[in-house]
Amino acid sequence: MVSSDSAPIQPLDALRRIAFLMERRRGETRKVEAFRKAAGVVLATDESELRARAEAGTLTDLPSIGASTAKVIEQALAGATPDYLAKLDAGPLVEETAETTALLERLRGDLHSHSDWSDGGSPIEEMVATCLELGRGYQALTDHSPRLKVANGLTAERLATQLSIVDRVNAHLDGSFRLLKGIEVDILDDGSLDQTDEMLGRLDVVVASVHSKLRMSSAPMTRRMIGAVENHHVDVLGHCTGRLITGGRGTRPPSEFDAEAVFAACAKNDVAVEINSRPERCDPPDDLIRLAMDAGCLFAIDTDAHAPGQLDFLAYGAERAARLGVPVDRIVTTWPVDELLAWTTR
Ligand SMILES: [Zn+2]
Ligand SMILES: [Zn+2]
Repeated sequence: MVSSDSAPIQPLDALRRIAFLMERRRGETRKVEAFRKAAGVVLATDESELRARAEAGTLTDLPSIGASTAKVIEQALAGATPDYLAKLDAGPLVEETAETTALLERLRGDLHSHSDWSDGGSPIEEMVATCLELGRGYQALTDHSPRLKVANGLTAERLATQLSIVDRVNAHLDGSFRLLKGIEVDILDDGSLDQTDEMLGRLDVVVASVHSKLRMSSAPMTRRMIGAVENHHVDVLGHCTGRLITGGRGTRPPSEFDAEAVFAACAKNDVAVEINSRPERCDPPDDLIRLAMDAGCLFAIDTDAHAPGQLDFLAYGAERAARLGVPVDRIVTTWPVDELLAWTTR
């Protein structure tokens, strides 16, 4: 479970929560994965066997269970909070001002996330389980498009298969949460989109982003972005400057384009400007968010989560939007899902 609870924590929940808490603090992927793999083994093992092994000290004979994960399982089985879990920081990611807290409470989900179908680290089901634990009302699954081969972008055929899986996931849920069908589609050099019109038409949410030739000069880049914004399938303009300000991938300056013209096109076409919450992106920069506000744009505060723990990154985007005074009614991710879908099918 993601939320803390007074009842003793079960081994499976303890392992998953450890992975979540490490991931939201950008812990080492290898360690996070070790806890998730162990959770998978616990899920597939009878509790009676777990108890017998804990007593006999043979938990580590199970695949993917090491000394640390075995100790977590033993302590949880004994009804105690595992030491490993107790020492992790479960506190807020950002300073909890009244404005930020109020906005965070209004956010119902986000329109940009990835699964292991493209370059995400976790299966769709694990992303959904975490959304439920975070109390989200919906989440858009937006894996990459075909030309982004480094990210294992989905062909039209794979996307069609994914959509049937999204239907099945939703059929298992009680309706209080909805997984939305989406894509993060590449904006090609000429402003066209990297997926068939037919497939784009079957989706709830289309996020369009530039991932290649980020150093194109301003005039063609402006035309390229406006071309995408004017496409009637597009709902959100993803991480518009492409900048990277920190992190393992190094830094990257923002792309050059006529932001006033691009945001005017967003406002005219009812396309939301994404406030990308990833700490290494922090995109758009403050001055461009102000410019987009002046242009009358809608906004989507998105996590761009590539792993379950990153779904908590919403706090970073909320902190920025609250600090800059983005009007809440213009943030589409505060809208009820029906209203949101009425807008995406506009
Ligand atoms: Zn992207
Ligand atoms: Zn993305």
